[in-house]
Amino acid sequence: MPRFTEPDGRIDIKSLSLDELTTELVALGSEKFRALQIWKWLWQKAARTFEEMTNISREWRDKLPAHFVIRELTPVGVLTSTDGTRKFLWHTADGQQIESVLIPDDDRLTLCVSTQVGCAMACSFCLTGDLGLKRHLRPAEIVNQPLQISRILPAGQRITNVVMMGMGEPLHNYDNLVAALRVYLHEHGLGMSHRRITVSTVGLVPAMKRLTDDLPVNLAVSLNASTEEQRRAVMPITKKYSMAELLEACRDLPIHHHKRITFEYVMMAGFNDSLEDAARLSKLLRGIRSKVNLIPYNENPQRDIQRPAAEVARAFQHYLVTRGVQCSIRSTRGKDISAACGQLGKADLASVAIFAESGA
Ligand code: SF4
Repeated sequence: MPRFTEPDGRIDIKSLSLDELTTELVALGSEKFRALQIWKWLWQKAARTFEEMTNISREWRDKLPAHFVIRELTPVGVLTSTDGTRKFLWHTADGQQIESVLIPDDDRLTLCVSTQVGCAMACSFCLTGDLGLKRHLRPAEIVNQPLQISRILPAGQRITNVVMMGMGEPLHNYDNLVAALRVYLHEHGLGMSHRRITVSTVGLVPAMKRLTDDLPVNLAVSLNASTEEQRRAVMPITKKYSMAELLEACRDLPIHHHKRITFEYVMMAGFNDSLEDAARLSKLLRGIRSKVNLIPYNENPQRDIQRPAAEVARAFQHYLVTRGVQCSIRSTRGKDISAACGQLGKADLASVAIFAESGA
């Protein structure tokens, strides 16, 4: 497993699993139980310093900072949409900018989490792809997003769902993603249910298989096409893993019988939004326990792609539903703050409200 150290040799403690932390502490002469005490302080009480860990002996509170560092993301700004969606901008310790999007919806509060700085997948419709991949996020950076946002939520409010759909292709950063998800799921970590965590992917077939073996979280596949040719035109990953190979893998995945694979389908006017597309899609998905999430394209000045009319999206949905395919149309959230799908990484810092003082 990766082990992250600072230039001064200290270990990034939040990027360690509980087992790794135990090993490190025992090597320093500690009893094993201390690891769980520290782990709970880090993830359940969101401690920022060892000094706060009042049930740890004075001797160890003095000793720990020489060996470990507690890293946090630096809050830079927050943009609030008219629909209540909030986009949080952060700086990492090495000065990279990442974003998380918090989306309120009835009784749900969903956080869209970033897993990389930029993205290597270069999907043609996505502005994040323009950045290229700058680096993978560490486990700590993936878990700090919900942890730090939770601190500023009003009493009684909490993040109910997490989607790994922010900047980056989560499965391209597999080891760090899984290490982070183990903290999300751990009863003494964030304690979230696997039913409330979704990992989205462009379809990195071997990593999808690994993930379903490793963890019981929900899987979403970004499909966006009804033919190989169409998909190759917008998603370069199709050259490596064809759509046929991807769908075959989905058919064979050992998905828990209560779960379905979500297929995300960004609808682009005149490209993949016809009823012929819907007909092909319904055939392609036969035999896969699935649901389709239609995402009418979020228009922006950087792309010459149009959003289909609402009735086109509804007709597409109707076609699928009447053929027995579960299908919903995702309502666009946070468009006015560039927080909608495919728009992350382009925030204009001059226009954001500073939340550095907010306590996140
Ligand atoms: S859609 Fe996702 S995978 Fe594709 S470029 Fe954008 S962030 Fe990367």
